[in-house]
Amino acid sequence: MSTVKLCEQVNVRYETDVVVVGGGVAGTAAAIAAARGGKRTLLIEKSGCLGGLATNGHVSPFDATKDNSGNTFGGIGKEIIDRMVIYQDKYGCPKSASKRVGPHLFKVVLLDLATEAGVDILFHADVIKTVAEDDEVKNLIIHTKSGIEAVSAKMFIDATGDGDIFAEAGEEFVMGCEPESGTDLKNAGFDHMHFEINSSSKYDTEEAKKILAVQPCSVMFSMGNVDMTQNPIKYNNKNLKFEDLGIDRDEFFSLEYAGTVGFEENGDLIPLPQGRILFFPSGRPNELIVNMSRVIGVDGTDAVELSKAAVIAHKQVIYLADFLKRYVPGFEESYLVESSNVLGVRETRRLVGMHVLKGLDAINCVHYDDEIACGSYIIDIHDPFGKSRALGGAIHGDSYGIPYGCIAPKRVKNLLVCGRCISVDHIAHSSTRIQGTCVMTGQAAGAAAAVALDTDATVQTVDVQKVREALKNDGVLLRK
Ligand SMILES: Cc1cc2nc3c(=O)[nH]c(=O)nc-3n(C[C@H](O)[C@H](O)[C@H](O)COP(=O)(O)OP(=O)(O)OC[C@H]3O[C@@H](n4cnc5c(N)ncnc54)[C@H](O)[C@@H]3O)c2cc1C
Repeated sequence: MSTVKLCEQVNVRYETDVVVVGGGVAGTAAAIAAARGGKRTLLIEKSGCLGGLATNGHVSPFDATKDNSGNTFGGIGKEIIDRMVIYQDKYGCPKSASKRVGPHLFKVVLLDLATEAGVDILFHADVIKTVAEDDEVKNLIIHTKSGIEAVSAKMFIDATGDGDIFAEAGEEFVMGCEPESGTDLKNAGFDHMHFEINSSSKYDTEEAKKILAVQPCSVMFSMGNVDMTQNPIKYNNKNLKFEDLGIDRDEFFSLEYAGTVGFEENGDLIPLPQGRILFFPSGRPNELIVNMSRVIGVDGTDAVELSKAAVIAHKQVIYLADFLKRYVPGFEESYLVESSNVLGVRETRRLVGMHVLKGLDAINCVHYDDEIACGSYIIDIHDPFGKSRALGGAIHGDSYGIPYGCIAPKRVKNLLVCGRCISVDHIAHSSTRIQGTCVMTGQAAGAAAAVALDTDATVQTVDVQKVREALKNDGVLLRK
């Protein structure tokens, strides 16, 4: 690859206390918490709205805001849901099941909570470089419509989902599964649980080792005018054979998309990208949100791979809409309403921080004296290798704890991490990546940034009990 020298003096556009990069659910919660902690806070987001995957990625289900006995984890996650209910009434929007928030109103809810807390928001701003020296982030270089400028702050929070900031600041990170992931899943008893087809053993095969074992990418879409009286739900989340839907095999294989990526022959089963039909009610009458596209082995930190995967996934959407209309009872008169603007990336870089949460500890519901968040979602590994429905199952209790060390890097003194890219292994990640948990680690990172600044501490030396007090004072319910 040839190179070009980029050398330019740039203006420092913002000097502030805390800068949060990434306005997904985690970054928004982090910014709200830092601002409530009395810090001047700037939230930088490269798209034009808050919510990240929840809005631009059309991921409506807002899960893991409660433990498995139904007790809320409180905090900003609860505030988001409460505000959603108020706005649904106020703006005459159809009531959705409480955890299915829907992307459109969600943008406004997050924006209102952030601006009410006093967060400054810079949209359409891409952080293109992290300037770090002496184990400290000094500046971020941003690209906006105004050109290339710099931002400086005392404390930074990486909420990019992909760990863009900690990677460039030189912190250790990993991507993909650990060598023991397959064995850990078996030891957790997930060989026969929760999902019909289990392939934890695939982690150990030579074929599997050739691809990057991260969870696959998907583009979410929604279908309107579905005739729910035909009960399409009965086909949901099942591996279906051709005869289950009365599909003529030859006719299927004459379709233009048969044999393309995701629609390759799959024995007796209907060849679908995820090997299943999967949808959720959108909250709007007769409308379903569909999660059926899948592209495996994608390095979501590589622009070319991302683009190639997006091309495949967007094509899969239109093919899947055609499939549903042709073959699934209730979808005959349905139509494609919308599809997500961004490729839904489930897994990229994970920080190797002061503590790495292990999947088995999450499954066994371990809690910690220094926990700053809790998770409760199932271990939910969308098959990194192909068409199995999912690997994993329910955790063995109500909730698990996430210790402070999962959001704190080992070296850089003024950087915290939250959301999808915190310090966990591949198995734990499949649960901590869920939105309610991302909000909790976000709120914790914002609170920790404020406490560290108030006490002249680094992120490694901050008094974690003070952070936990701040979280509890802001309504977060921690088990310990
Ligand atoms: C297909 C799919 C289905 C899912 N299903 C569910 C589900 O059913 N229930 C559930 O709870 N969760 C689900 N999830 C998981 C969940 O949606 C995400 O893991 C979670 O929303 C991640 O939140 P986040 O804030 O960490 O990251 P993101 O939502 O990815 O937000 C990161 C933000 O940072 C911005 N950003 C990134 N880099 C830069 C940069 N360099 N400069 C400026 N801005 C930047 C991005 O634009 C983005 O807005 C699903 C995910 C996918 C992909």
